[in-house]
Amino acid sequence: MTDRPLQPVPEAYRRSPLRSWLRLALDTRRASREGPAALAARQRARLRAIVAHARANSPFYRGRWAGLPDVVRLDELPPVAKPDLMARFDEWVTDPRVRLWDVEAFISDPARVGELFAGEFSAWTTSGTTGQPGVFVHDRVARGVYDALMVTRTHALAEGAFLRALGRGLRIATVVATGGHHVSTSLVNLNRRRFPALARRIRTFSVLTPLPRLVAELNAFDPAILIGYPTALHLLAQEAGRGHLRVRPALVVVGGEVLTAQARGAIEGALGAHLVDLYATGEFPGIAFSCRFGRLHANSDWVILEPVGTDYSPTPLDQPSHTVLLTNLANRVQPIVRYDLGDSLTVSSAQCACGSPFPLIEVGGRKGDVLRFPGADGREVAVLPLALGMVVEKTPGVRRFQAYQTGDGELRVRIEPDEASDRDATWARVADRVDAFLASQGIVGVGLVHEAALPARNPRSQKFQAVWDARARPAALGTQTGAPS
Ligand SMILES: [Zn+2]
Repeated sequence: MTDRPLQPVPEAYRRSPLRSWLRLALDTRRASREGPAALAARQRARLRAIVAHARANSPFYRGRWAGLPDVVRLDELPPVAKPDLMARFDEWVTDPRVRLWDVEAFISDPARVGELFAGEFSAWTTSGTTGQPGVFVHDRVARGVYDALMVTRTHALAEGAFLRALGRGLRIATVVATGGHHVSTSLVNLNRRRFPALARRIRTFSVLTPLPRLVAELNAFDPAILIGYPTALHLLAQEAGRGHLRVRPALVVVGGEVLTAQARGAIEGALGAHLVDLYATGEFPGIAFSCRFGRLHANSDWVILEPVGTDYSPTPLDQPSHTVLLTNLANRVQPIVRYDLGDSLTVSSAQCACGSPFPLIEVGGRKGDVLRFPGADGREVAVLPLALGMVVEKTPGVRRFQAYQTGDGELRVRIEPDEASDRDATWARVADRVDAFLASQGIVGVGLVHEAALPARNPRSQKFQAVWDARARPAALGTQTGAPS
């Protein structure tokens, strides 16, 4: 048992940030050495504090939790979902300086990526698995917790991969969604501003860059650490296998999508690097990290994950859930308590050979298929689901979309325009942007088909998927054209 689980106290953090951060880092290290009972004690104490804070400062939660006893169990709190929270954003947050109107203006300005909103908060946007955009704001203490977890719990440090990267000049390449306030880009740019000496060694590469050019640019930069989405790095690994990509990073970090065993094998094999997998979302950018056996352990001292079914009843261990309820125990400015994340999760009853006391999890969902079209030069060109998603989602007027490939020359797209936008005009903009994007990748002659149906969940699995190859899985939700359920 711990004496008093460390709480995130904003006042102390403001007074002496370094000392407070070191205490956080020590606590995260200590939690790794103590057993499950100490982890549970931390969860309970931190949950009490977050619930009390939300009750006192968030009109949204105060309303939702009216009538509940002062001391509540987690399972007594009603689950919440992104559409409700986003619709009542200003009542959800606990700081009057944070208003949706202002935060949206902030995150729509690419020049301000990496800046702090109101001089204090990280803010970013993410669509996650549900395909609906969310805006997330994290306070200083929460950022301290995410940093502490990263510094104390990724095995790359323990195993010397980071030191090897240091020896190789510590050039860091991130292959990400650039030009917007996404989690990864925001964090990278924030660190650039905080550590100017590091800034010259970090370079971001857009996932939208045509593959041959991306390969050439990475070869020239020769990174010691390579960070990106698994689908993007898998493609790069194949380029390394063909002898085109010649980088030899000491460390590869992947996140933002599910890492399949096949992608892991290909990346590790072709790049010869130590690989760290992060399960990170806009709601909590450090939910779980992979251990030296490549398995994901949840950081359960700072995040509570409850795998649940369609009716929010608990899913037993070792079974994949319908969705997962996430509770962020670190962030007070925008309390996330029993939040429907949309990912399917399996919590394992097994102990991992690495000896970590943190629960072993496996994540499903968050997958998109890589689409493949014939290129102008006769070679096949791969299109990342995430890159296509960025192109469509960033089109003014688009709230949600889905796209699926039905043949070498056909891509079908569904869009849901926002209230202010006309469907036909929005579609015309989408079609222009997708055509231009495909042409930039060397793909020509693909017919875009505008489907009248709105984006919909898979009627069988009830999962939402944004991009898929209907040739590979005709039954997925391929040709379903029904109304969203
Ligand atoms: Zn392990």
